[in-house]
Amino acid sequence: MPGVEIVTPGERPRHPEPGEPSRPSFAAALVRGLRRRCPNCGRGRLFRAYLKPVDACESCREALGHIRADDAPPYFTIVVVGHAVVGLALFAEMQFRPPMWAYMTVLPALTLAMTLGLLPVVKGALIGLMWRLRLSGDEFQ
Ligand SMILES: [Zn+2]
Repeated sequence: MPGVEIVTPGERPRHPEPGEPSRPSFAAALVRGLRRRCPNCGRGRLFRAYLKPVDACESCREALGHIRADDAPPYFTIVVVGHAVVGLALFAEMQFRPPMWAYMTVLPALTLAMTLGLLPVVKGALIGLMWRLRLSGDEFQ
């Protein structure tokens, strides 16, 4: 049937049709996503709220709202923040031996600030890569 795309388990992401406009490079889509901008044009905003992607780019009208990164952004954010905070705590203990109250106040605040700051950046990067790979997050494995 024309116009209907049948997805079967194990199917790879579709390739561009002849005549379909090419997409920016992986690096460009990643950097635009990191900047929380549309991976296609780099001008429109990627999020309409803290972590809620726009339905379509306000500049180029590229559909972005269907891309679901699911648990990947929190996963990568935890990996980065966890390594940074634990590394900082170990370094501080070996170099300065700060009092326990310093750990109990500074590290949770630092962890929270880094997580809240990094999460939209990581989600933007992943949405940019997913858009470039023509993935929407609901593919069968
Ligand atoms: Zn755009």
